[in-house]
Amino acid sequence: MSVLVVGSVAYDSVTTPADSREDALGGSATYFSIAASRFTNVSLIAVIGEDFDERHIALLRSHGIDVSGLRRHNGKTFRWAGEYYSSDLNARTTLDTQLNVFAEFSPQLSAEQRRCPYLFLANIDPELQLDVLRQMETRPNLVALDSMNFWIDGKRDALNEIVRNADVLFMDEDETRDFARESNLVTAAKRIMAMGPSAVVVKRGAHGATLFNGDAIFSAPAFPLDHVADPTGAGDTFAAGFIGYIAATGDKTPDGYRRAAVLGSVMGSFCVQDFSMDRILTLTIEEIEDRFRAFTALTSFKGLPEGASLLGG
Ligand code: AMP
Repeated sequence: MSVLVVGSVAYDSVTTPADSREDALGGSATYFSIAASRFTNVSLIAVIGEDFDERHIALLRSHGIDVSGLRRHNGKTFRWAGEYYSSDLNARTTLDTQLNVFAEFSPQLSAEQRRCPYLFLANIDPELQLDVLRQMETRPNLVALDSMNFWIDGKRDALNEIVRNADVLFMDEDETRDFARESNLVTAAKRIMAMGPSAVVVKRGAHGATLFNGDAIFSAPAFPLDHVADPTGAGDTFAAGFIGYIAATGDKTPDGYRRAAVLGSVMGSFCVQDFSMDRILTLTIEEIEDRFRAFTALTSFKGLPEGASLLGG
């Protein structure tokens, strides 16, 4: 099974309490593609500028990613700059967003891409996300969507329309509240599900993720780490674990969604251990499985047997 992804391919300049990097490989679709390529075939739709390094295209290819939909246009590659502070790595400040070649991009899907069974609309202009969805020949098995404040503030109408057409929505905590215009997270998620999606995944950084799936709520913790180098891309890498699991197994049951959320958390935890894509580029399936198992130990406890009382007696 394969996943089609549209999103940003970028050069990021990032400062964290650990270090800083200028013009490192970034972008929502790049993080997603590299991480999801561990589980399934990935086909990438995006645009790059004249300054995009050929070696980065070769890197994507070396992970088996179909880059036939990666177009090079005159102009500069999308650029993003952000900073994280030691007081709260969950709160980041966007210093700069330059759409560059994305401002004029018009995606064209091949016949094969139009039939992809899984579609991930990674964080990018919701009008581009809609454009890609409209080109699909048949509705994919699963349409998942990510977005962020930049688009909630700038393109709410287009975002509303794409949310109405998605099955799963990923957003961080503040974005969920802003998008739903509701401060209570449970009510916010319900309000979003009433628009169309059957599931909302609220990413909460170092506090893990909460999956709202119909009436059920599941909480996946973040893997406890003693060092976080760079939180950038954790959300896209989370989505790669989530969608990658469903695309690889076809499992859309409530239990499958829970496992997908745990695999998302596993992948996000690897991403933040180094800058840019550095950690996820070398990740093996054995390392992923080991950490998945560690989550079982992290979250399991002896529940209350049927009929027993908590304090005995
Ligand atoms: P995440 O940390 O998972 O939210 O994703 C960070 C990535 O999103 C970075 O590599 C950026 O290049 C990319 N990004 C930041 N702002 C935008 C935006 N407005 N549209 C699309 N991608 C963005």
